[in-house]
Amino acid sequence: MLGGGQLGRFFVIAAHEMGYKVVVLDPDRNSPAGKIAEVHLCAAYDDKAALDEMARSCAAVTTEFENVPAATLEYLSKSCQVHPSASAVAIAQNRISEKNFLRDHGFPHAPYAVIRSAEDVPAANSGLYPGILKVSRFGYDGKGQARVASPEEAREAFLTFNGEACVLEMRLKLDYEVSVVLARDAAGNTKAFPTAENAHRNGILDVSIVPARGSAEVRETAQAFARGVAEKLGYVGVLGVEFFVCNDSLYVNEMAPRPHNSGHYTIDACVTGQFEQQVRALCGLPLGDPHQHSAAVMVNLLGDVWPEGGEPAWAILFAQTDLKLHLYGKHEARAGRKMGHFTVIGEDVRDVLAAAMDIRKRIGIEDH
Ligand code: ATP
Ligand code: MG
Repeated sequence: MLGGGQLGRFFVIAAHEMGYKVVVLDPDRNSPAGKIAEVHLCAAYDDKAALDEMARSCAAVTTEFENVPAATLEYLSKSCQVHPSASAVAIAQNRISEKNFLRDHGFPHAPYAVIRSAEDVPAANSGLYPGILKVSRFGYDGKGQARVASPEEAREAFLTFNGEACVLEMRLKLDYEVSVVLARDAAGNTKAFPTAENAHRNGILDVSIVPARGSAEVRETAQAFARGVAEKLGYVGVLGVEFFVCNDSLYVNEMAPRPHNSGHYTIDACVTGQFEQQVRALCGLPLGDPHQHSAAVMVNLLGDVWPEGGEPAWAILFAQTDLKLHLYGKHEARAGRKMGHFTVIGEDVRDVLAAAMDIRKRIGIEDH
């Protein structure tokens, strides 16, 4: 596993349950996945010696970290199975190639312009304002983004990103957001999990509601687009596709070449969870049944809810017996840092949502 964050940790747990041993590569000594893997190679993602060690000891390699250098995947693929491929990850990890991919294959997306220098900033009448300027690489959880209302603001923001290539995207009037997590195997079989409805706070996923409310047509169209994206990428592994919904029309926002935060509900509410599915896809096993047996609402727990020197009131969560708590074993709570999540499951998604939001409030997460 390349990357030792919470996604890697869930992968290690699933792999262990299925009888595998895991080597994690992550430069952070305290990485959540590294702590529970058989071997933690504590080195940079391009450390030749560490990659050689990984190639020697592993039959198959995957990633949880979309910014892993494509060259690393390429190098490892010479001696082991590597899924997803370097070429698929390279597209998803760069917003310019990602947007161009969507455009070239006819997937709906927000209008955008590529900005490599201040002269590329589009004119006021380009139809892209108000817009969002996003750095092409290494952005996550809303970082490396700026809302801009004019070419002047866009130029200013571009300079604060140190001349990094960016995309300027038109800001759409979103009614809501959805995502689809799917798995595709080497033979091209695809199994998609149900469409999730996602609410964000400060650019970070806050709550996922599954099945997504809104129309069945939106849910199904999202599934079809996600499958199309996986096919056009020749993707093998677990893929997350995020969408905007405006007036019942879907726009692809971005793709994540790994399990997705909005798919965490699958651990507790589906026959097969997204991390078991990742193990299956990687190891060439038949993909599991993605059927959702319970309505689910997932709530992210950010470092913000950790009081100074203390911890949230866990008793409130444990008193709710249809709630599943997952903590990531992170060293230290920081504002905006994903520390864990909980999922409430039940029969009716509206009841589950009401229960989850009540608990969310009681442990001190303010409303939108
Ligand atoms: P993450 O890693 O959490 O997915 P990210 O940093 O990759 O986040 P995006 O997914 O591009 O960022 O944007 C984060 C959120 O900002 C979106 O989920 C959406 O709520 C809002 N947003 C982004 N782009 C647009 C847009 N063009 N129009 C309207 N809202 C947008
Ligand atoms: Mg996103």
